[in-house]
Amino acid sequence: LLDVALARVQAAAPLNALVSVNPHAAQDAAGVAARVDAGETLPLAGLPIIVKDNINVTGTRTTCGSRILDRYVSPYTATAARRLQDAGAVIIGKANMDEFAMGSSTESSASGPTLNPWDPARVPGGSSGGSAAAVAAGLTAVALGSDTGGSVRQPAALCGVYGLKPTYGRVSRFGLVAYASSLDQIGPLAHRAEDLALLMNVMAGHDPHDPTSLDAPPAFRTGTPDDLRGLRVGVIRESLDGNTAGVTATLTATLDALHSAGATVQEISVPQLRYAIAAYYLIAMPEASSNLARFDGMVYGHREPGSDVTASMTLTRERGFGREVQRRIMIGTYALSSGYYDAYYSRAMKIRRRLADSFTAAFAHVDVLVTPTSPFPAFRRGEKTSDPLAMYAADVDTVAVNLTGLPALSVPMGFETVDGTALPVGIQFIAPALNDELLLRVAGGLE
Ligand code: GLN
Repeated sequence: LLDVALARVQAAAPLNALVSVNPHAAQDAAGVAARVDAGETLPLAGLPIIVKDNINVTGTRTTCGSRILDRYVSPYTATAARRLQDAGAVIIGKANMDEFAMGSSTESSASGPTLNPWDPARVPGGSSGGSAAAVAAGLTAVALGSDTGGSVRQPAALCGVYGLKPTYGRVSRFGLVAYASSLDQIGPLAHRAEDLALLMNVMAGHDPHDPTSLDAPPAFRTGTPDDLRGLRVGVIRESLDGNTAGVTATLTATLDALHSAGATVQEISVPQLRYAIAAYYLIAMPEASSNLARFDGMVYGHREPGSDVTASMTLTRERGFGREVQRRIMIGTYALSSGYYDAYYSRAMKIRRRLADSFTAAFAHVDVLVTPTSPFPAFRRGEKTSDPLAMYAADVDTVAVNLTGLPALSVPMGFETVDGTALPVGIQFIAPALNDELLLRVAGGLE
């Protein structure tokens, strides 16, 4: 399996889905083989897997797609990755990503852009675009990404694979390089709901190293059409406008399929959704400005010389961070500064609260909520790079879920043909907190 995966990685080099190959993969695979020979039963024995490059794995480079961590080698392994390894998975490489997970297209990586396997002129989505492209191109059956505002679900949708953002706290964040700590979650990508279940059953659960992780033992299984009978589905009214024709058609077909399987479908309004992007960026950027303060060249990674410490730190951050990361550190610092805190950060937090209340009210009437994952399929490389607001708008359907901590799954449900090329379309299912299991049963029922 390892040889096949590595051969595929090599053959798919033009996609630029990986930042690095794990130099210890063969040794790790041999270790798993020895454990199996010794009689151990391992649920993921020998399964090759790729993890996003902001997830630490001992002895691998963890660059976060940034020049500032270019030569940084992890001295420890993230809990989620460690649990997969303990279950027999072999991490074969680290996936490309937008720098520090800030972006929706995997174009801001210091390692260059990742291409969408369905159309190499288009982006794979982001920020976990490397993970999504790797799974879509069949380099491995499964991969890990991280989702702060949609970074597992949106690239999953644009690459035609499944992507799960678990309930905040279900998967340990220990060893995940923080972007916005109150929003970040590690999540799996795969070709089938069943494979997501396999990974979640191994990865989820309390971790003493992450005090925000929850003691909710995973019980994932895939569903059958029986799981759809009597299911109460709400389609979010605010997500119906502004979609391409193919996205609208795919959403309609999904609702029809649910209805035919015996589910009831109704429209539900979540009025604060129109403020979700603004609130998200006014929370994510301040958290990022604080989290990224640790990258000053003194402890981690790249260091520029300077006449004194301040000069060295300044130059390190100026040269080490790309434009988007610098923009966010500045906006985030501004939004937290005295005199502006009340106007920006604290108002965003009020929207966050009201959004949560609206979702709670909606879940009194329905079991799952449905929206498109993205208003459009994969866009062309370069199309949004000069307009940050257009890039942020790509997250319109995904950020509310992170603000409220809810679990959500993107399911590949259709295609839209653009300029003669079929591009995948994803539909997002959202469940109440800790009901992640329901999402996989619904997805399994639709398969
Ligand atoms: N595109 C969003 C952002 O740039 C989400 C990124 C993510 O989920 N990591 O912040």
